[in-house]
Amino acid sequence: MDVYAVMGNPIGHSKSPRIHGLFAAQTGENLRYTAIEASLDGFETEVRHFFQEGGNGLNITVPFKERAWQLVDRKQPRAELAGAVNTIWSLNGELVGDNTDGIGLVQDLIGNQGCMLREQRILVVGAGGAVRGILEPLLERKPAEVTVANRTLAKAEQLVELFGHLGPLRASRFEDLDGPYDLIINGTSASLAGELPPLPTSVIGPHTQVYDMMYGNQETPFNRWAREQGAAKVMDGLGMLVEQAAEAFFLWRGLRPDTAPVLAQLRQRL
Ligand code: NDP
Repeated sequence: MDVYAVMGNPIGHSKSPRIHGLFAAQTGENLRYTAIEASLDGFETEVRHFFQEGGNGLNITVPFKERAWQLVDRKQPRAELAGAVNTIWSLNGELVGDNTDGIGLVQDLIGNQGCMLREQRILVVGAGGAVRGILEPLLERKPAEVTVANRTLAKAEQLVELFGHLGPLRASRFEDLDGPYDLIINGTSASLAGELPPLPTSVIGPHTQVYDMMYGNQETPFNRWAREQGAAKVMDGLGMLVEQAAEAFFLWRGLRPDTAPVLAQLRQRL
């Protein structure tokens, strides 16, 4: 039986074994997918050990995506640019790394949520690893403008330097934002601490759609705030999680699972 796993620290909360288990059952693929908690100082050794023991593929999650980027022998172009790797497989004795987070977000926005990105004014909040992974697929969809706002402005400016050649991208401080935007994507980890990035309320208008990359069994603080400001629609990141997993499954198995029933099951469990 082929063996896959997600590696992170902590890993107990991960939904990836369940998602890939559902994909395997749906497609009739004979595989096992587990969760491995790698130690903070032994991540690289554990990845190599996994593949030496005959493992077929790994997903990588917090806090190891940048270290996975350093570790692999070869990277797909979108992972190279993202600076983070969340999917690894072995090919002719080499470890190959890819990043499926960005395409997962875009697939969820367009395919599941029916959002339009073309010609839209998009605000991306945050400039960490997750945002780095989404800028290329977002800009590929030809938005009118993408503004990256971050608490530490220099990090947003760095992203503009890296991705600015792909489309209309600019950096901003929170207080300098002028709205409303058509779509706001929260890629900060503020919600994890129950906090809110201090955005001016003017970023939200009656037609603004809001996507928080975080998800949970309750509405995220960011989405609650956006709804209270009158946003047209709020969405969480559960669909992104399922779609990035589907893209990884495709890379490993050459099959695209139907994500809708899997997302519905996960949503029901939340
Ligand atoms: P990073 O640690 O790399 O980046 C965190 C970002 O959040 C930085 O821009 C940081 O700003 C900002 N931030 C943190 N706290 C605050 C605050 N209180 N106010 C304002 N800004 C804040 O994290 P990641 O990029 O890896 O992850 C970001 C989020 O995306 C997480 O919630 C994660 O769960 C989610 N995610 C969801 C996925 C999905 O499949 N749904 C996939 C990947 C990530 P500064 O630079 O100033 O420190």
